[in-house]
Amino acid sequence: MAKKFLLINFAILCFAFLQAGCVTYQSVEPLPVIARPAIPPSYALPVPVGVYHQVESGQTLWAISRNYGVDVTKLMKYNSIRKPQELVVRERIFIPSSGSRLPVEPLYVSRAIRWRYIIIHHSATDVGSAESFEKGHLSRGFYRGLGYHFVIDNGSKATKAGDIEVSRRWFYQMAGAHCNAAGMNEKAIGICLVGNFDEERVTKKQFDSLVALVDHLRLLYNIPIYNIKGHKDVSGATTRCPGSNFPSAKLKKELSRREFAYRK
Ligand SMILES: [Zn+2]
Repeated sequence: MAKKFLLINFAILCFAFLQAGCVTYQSVEPLPVIARPAIPPSYALPVPVGVYHQVESGQTLWAISRNYGVDVTKLMKYNSIRKPQELVVRERIFIPSSGSRLPVEPLYVSRAIRWRYIIIHHSATDVGSAESFEKGHLSRGFYRGLGYHFVIDNGSKATKAGDIEVSRRWFYQMAGAHCNAAGMNEKAIGICLVGNFDEERVTKKQFDSLVALVDHLRLLYNIPIYNIKGHKDVSGATTRCPGSNFPSAKLKKELSRREFAYRK
């Protein structure tokens, strides 16, 4: 039995190496292991334990698994993929977190960008998804499509409320196209919540996902809470984004509460 298991593992490894040869995107350096504060289980969130990734041309399941630090077999299981070759371009696959609480494990990071801020946006539309915004941004001539790094869905456009979608920009660790003011595109992670928060309120599912995502990114890149801003709060920005109903104070309060809990 053990021998059979070893053989299967060996076969998977061989396959993985073969697949690695097909990767066409730029190689990125693995992120050094970062010691994170111990997180009390009581602060575990029942919300997103993963993110969504849209498959692009040239990406293999192996490459995706390597970039997110999630086992290929785990990806296959979560997405009911029987053979890695079944992967289809533009398919949206779920990347489960490797931890119990963290929404995403961005294991690879560019040496060129040091993330120092997180800027939060709203889409100012009732409906949308990473895919629909990507189309919009491409038609407006945005270089490399979707300007944000993450999109938090509201349940429209075949998404689930609270889903976190990862954009190509994050996958390849590229500068954003979401906030020109104060040179933020070069140093800020851009997160967009679907909705118009001048007219409606952020739903609990979206808020919980936002807290989980921001808290995780903040710990990973050592970003202070005062560097987490709504788009309109960036000096020089002339916008109402992310809307007058966006709960900035509540977000900061929740992040502070967690920081305090981690320190205890
Ligand atoms: Zn904005």
